[in-house]
Amino acid sequence: MTHETTAGAPTTLPWRPATTWQNWGHNQSVVPRGVARPTSEDALQDVLEAARGEGLTVKPVGSGHSFTGIAVAPGVQLDLTGLSGLRAVDTASAQVTLGAGTRLFEIPALLEPYGLAMPNLGDIDRQTISGAVSTGTHGTGAGFGGLATQLVQVRLLTADGRHLTVSAEENPQYWGAVQVGLGALGVLTEVTLQCVPQFVLHAVEAPAPFAQVLEEWDARCAEADHFEFYWFPGTTVASTKTNTRLPGDAPLSPVPRFSGWVDDELLANGLYRAICAVGTRARSVVPVANKVASRLMARREYTDLSYRVFATSRTVRFREMEFAVPREAVPSVVRELDAMIRAKDLRVSFPVEVRAAAADDLWLSTAHGRDTGYVAIHRYFREDYHRYFTAAQDIFRAHGGRPHWGKLHFLGADDFAELYPRFDDFVRARDELDPGRLFANPYLAHVLGA
Ligand SMILES: Cc1cc2nc3c(=O)[nH]c(=O)nc-3n(C[C@H](O)[C@H](O)[C@H](O)COP(=O)(O)OP(=O)(O)OC[C@H]3O[C@@H](n4cnc5c(N)ncnc54)[C@H](O)[C@@H]3O)c2cc1C
Repeated sequence: MTHETTAGAPTTLPWRPATTWQNWGHNQSVVPRGVARPTSEDALQDVLEAARGEGLTVKPVGSGHSFTGIAVAPGVQLDLTGLSGLRAVDTASAQVTLGAGTRLFEIPALLEPYGLAMPNLGDIDRQTISGAVSTGTHGTGAGFGGLATQLVQVRLLTADGRHLTVSAEENPQYWGAVQVGLGALGVLTEVTLQCVPQFVLHAVEAPAPFAQVLEEWDARCAEADHFEFYWFPGTTVASTKTNTRLPGDAPLSPVPRFSGWVDDELLANGLYRAICAVGTRARSVVPVANKVASRLMARREYTDLSYRVFATSRTVRFREMEFAVPREAVPSVVRELDAMIRAKDLRVSFPVEVRAAAADDLWLSTAHGRDTGYVAIHRYFREDYHRYFTAAQDIFRAHGGRPHWGKLHFLGADDFAELYPRFDDFVRARDELDPGRLFANPYLAHVLGA
């Protein structure tokens, strides 16, 4: 982008003109003032300096998979694709350093030569590692924390152009803040993850009576390495998924390619797409279609490398709200959701997803200080979600729920100050690291206060 300086001489700014950016859920969009794709830390530093000079904000964007406006960049949008890949491996400690823009789906191939794997993953692997940790992205497993708990060190470029290494040992005053940093504290340029030896998962997917799954929730979480379930509103059957960890050399028995495609793409994604598309036009179709869908989720068992079992593909576009509640509250929360959906006669064509995670001590982690259950609700992207999500939020709030930072909610800074015991410490860290709000955007102003 060429630009007139105050002295009148044209100068080149380190970003290009932007077109409209929108997130995966198609509910957030912006035309940034410019897009910068630095390929080195020096080039990144130049972007920050030029933005400061122009009085523009800077916002790193990952793969745009947040439903909230957390990644919206009205000023300079930073695309860190050029800062990705493997930087270092310490095989003795199983710690691996990655460029901040690395996508989760790229990581298994980078770790494979060293016989390593990430200990847990979420449902999909399209996100960047930095975007995922910055919003507290998680998978399931009562004994496992979210992805940010896998961090052992980060490299952070701060608003004043300093490269800070932050870990429990170096600059420890910021460690609790940067792990789930919301993109508010600086630009992560490298992350170091604690990995584990490569492992295999034995997966059992099976339908079970919804009422029974709720009764057995605590026991199922305690017994399994990774337990989760889905439930289509209006039905009495839940689809459970129970994964057991096995050593890396355990024999594999993956889902055959063709039946995998039939189950995952044709039935899971294709059927949802059809139900959702018809349901938007004819509400009466939804309850019947939900019953058909829940019946079609048949039992299947397979054994495969961990990342192939954790991550699935999601090709039907939706919007999502997810709250973290105390784990023992999950059955009550889900029963209240069921009652609310019936009382309001909502025709919801997407399932409710329920997962678990271990307590951690990261300041803004949704699992901070308590063993956690996650309850996620979805709505097809062409449908209005407000009535469903506001009513659901009341239920989640009544149980002390904390919303996922990347998923829809209607809370603000005052609510978060009550929900997170270290909220004020986070805000203080932000005031120290970004006093001029170089990394601000409207979402951060709303959830952290101006
Ligand atoms: C289909 C789908 C499935 C999902 N499944 C799950 C799931 O299973 N579990 C779960 O917990 N969540 C899930 N999510 C939510 C998703 O994981 C989070 O919203 C995640 O943050 C998205 O990562 P991203 O790379 O797209 O980041 P973005 O949404 O682009 O950005 C998120 C935040 O990270 C910041 N950021 C990005 N890079 C940097 C950097 N280098 N330095 C500093 N800040 C940075 C951005 O500024 C922004 O604040 C899902 C979302 C979708 C759309």
